Amino acid sequence: MDTQEFDFENRIMNTSYSAEDSEVEPSLRPKTLDEYVGQEKVKENLSIYIAAAKERRDPLDHVLLYGPPGLGKTTLSNIIAAEMGVNIRITSGPAIEKQGDLAAILTNLNEGDILFIDEIHRLSRSVEEILYPAMEDYALDIIIGKGPSARSIRIDLPRFTLIGATTRAGQMTTPLRDRFGVILKLELYTPEELASIVRRNAGILDMEIADDGAMEIAGRSRGTPRIANRLLKRVRDFAQIMGDGIIDEKIANYALNKLEIDHLGLDNVDRKMLETIIRFYDGGPVGLETLAATVGEEAITLEDMYEPFLMQIGFLNRTPRGRCATRMAYEHLGLPYHVPPTQGEQMKLFDEGNGKNKQ
Ligand code: ADP
Repeated sequence: MDTQEFDFENRIMNTSYSAEDSEVEPSLRPKTLDEYVGQEKVKENLSIYIAAAKERRDPLDHVLLYGPPGLGKTTLSNIIAAEMGVNIRITSGPAIEKQGDLAAILTNLNEGDILFIDEIHRLSRSVEEILYPAMEDYALDIIIGKGPSARSIRIDLPRFTLIGATTRAGQMTTPLRDRFGVILKLELYTPEELASIVRRNAGILDMEIADDGAMEIAGRSRGTPRIANRLLKRVRDFAQIMGDGIIDEKIANYALNKLEIDHLGLDNVDRKMLETIIRFYDGGPVGLETLAATVGEEAITLEDMYEPFLMQIGFLNRTPRGRCATRMAYEHLGLPYHVPPTQGEQMKLFDEGNGKNKQ
């Protein structure tokens, strides 16, 4: 498919937050750790840290949450605030442009409050520098005046908790990462976990859903609750107009096929990415930038939104020399697999081509 025609903003499988999500996401957000499905290890650790902090009457240690978009980082932060019984102030890395912006936010916090910074890897270096003493000593260092008369004064801040969320922990600076006491990685969800999220949300949205219908949607949601929620809404429309309003396997299957989402959850862009590696680059390895240019997407988009799932289902490998499609990817696309030549074989072919092996 021609990517020029592809409406990326409206791509259903795009995991980033969109206007469409804002209609339902607030009502679907679980409010307690018990309601929050999956991520058992993360929940277990968090509940201990929360209980201990509450017992000591201390604020919770600073928490860094990382993982692909749509897995529940914002939701979890709201739950942490509710469980701690404190207020949460939500902002994001790109929204804090100047040191003064962050200073204003920090001085307006109350004791124990949570400051949630989404996309924390996108903070500028100068803003980041304000955060170091704030996180470590609950203090703000401000320079007053200019030139030789400039002096630094220190303002005490309330003891707060910073929760940072990022899709790319590797892009954060080490000094910032090191100041988080708790670092938690969110994993993609299993189809069973997603099915239970779909069933719960169908209940909240007053939809009738059969177990096999929930499983069908879950299986195509590529491990991501945000996508599961979106697919549920789309399938509901089909069930209402084409069926009897009940979401079962048959209508879910029909609707998702119409939306060109295959039984593994891959859409046109995923398929194009894999086909490009196979057809243009002989299965890989191909560098991310080259691949992005050929597919017509940004490298960062491929890396954040497509690759985690394609790697999880074993269709894509990241090697030091670039991305490779696996045998399973060939089979899924119905393309004939051939074992890539080894380096020795490549040399031999090259020599033969140059006539060196001729008798
Ligand atoms: P992120 O901040 O990681 O991009 P969000 O916290 O905004 O993701 O989650 C997106 C949506 O997915 C939420 O509105 C919520 O409905 C749903 N969701 C995420 N995680 C869970 C979970 N563990 N259990 C139930 N629903 C979830």
